[in-house]
Amino acid sequence: MGLIRDKDGRRLHIKSRLMGESLVSSSLLETLELVPQERPFPDIDILKIGGQSICDRGAKAVPAVVKELAANKKKHKMFLTAGGGTRSRHIYAIGLELGMPTGIIARFGSTISKQNALLLATLLGPWGGVEIEHDDIVKLPNYYSQGCIPVTHGMPPYDFFAIPPAKGRIPIHRTDVGTLLLADLTGARSCIFIKDEKGLYSDDPKKKPDVEFIPKISAKELMQKEFDDLIIERPCLEILQNSEVIEQIQIINGLEQGNITKALKGEHVGTIIYKQ
Ligand code: ADP
Ligand code: MG
Repeated sequence: MGLIRDKDGRRLHIKSRLMGESLVSSSLLETLELVPQERPFPDIDILKIGGQSICDRGAKAVPAVVKELAANKKKHKMFLTAGGGTRSRHIYAIGLELGMPTGIIARFGSTISKQNALLLATLLGPWGGVEIEHDDIVKLPNYYSQGCIPVTHGMPPYDFFAIPPAKGRIPIHRTDVGTLLLADLTGARSCIFIKDEKGLYSDDPKKKPDVEFIPKISAKELMQKEFDDLIIERPCLEILQNSEVIEQIQIINGLEQGNITKALKGEHVGTIIYKQ
């Protein structure tokens, strides 16, 4: 690799396409030709088990979900993530009341979704459930070869470095975002969000009476609609729209038995949000 010195001789560069660039230039990013993104694990299915929507329901919901996941183990290489749910909301509220910065609130969220990951991994123990850390993601094939179902917490590890949002101090990148980022990272064949509603509606069906069900919509169109509330964290839409390897995400009702199996088979249950 060639070494090149600046004209004034003060800076030494290693010859490459990005040599001497600030990496900020819009025109550079526009013209940069990239090799297509690799999909390190294209045969895995990523499933997020909702915190509020599934885990918090305890015995009323979790055993049935665990049973259905276990029944799919032989056919699918599943990688599970856990949401935080009600306990996250409680500590967020206390943190906000006491003036905590976004980074502290995000850290709270990580530790709580980690509790749910441990809970799910423990319940899945008889079928190879194992809690893994983010550093273990590159070892996924080893877990599958040993018959494991890896589970991790869904919060992206921005933690103390979580970006303060435009309004308020609740981190906008939470466990839905973390799950989708994992799908982009691994190039997973599917990214399924297991929640407690049929899928996406025009507004929160728990709060509004006349809501319209939306079985399929593009991320771009959904962003333009500017719905007041969504079933999925808002930044997911932009991440999906910009992804090189993820074509769609699916949101299903995990309280209805059979939906997880159908979604894993590629059937259209719930809502599909696709990249336009
Ligand atoms: P999770 O448990 O995965 O964190 P959330 O509880 O954060 O899930 O989000 C799912 C909830 O979002 C649903 O239970 C529903 O009440 C609510 N929700 C808000 N807006 C919508 C919408 N437009 N369509 C469907 N559900 C919505
Ligand atoms: Mg949520």
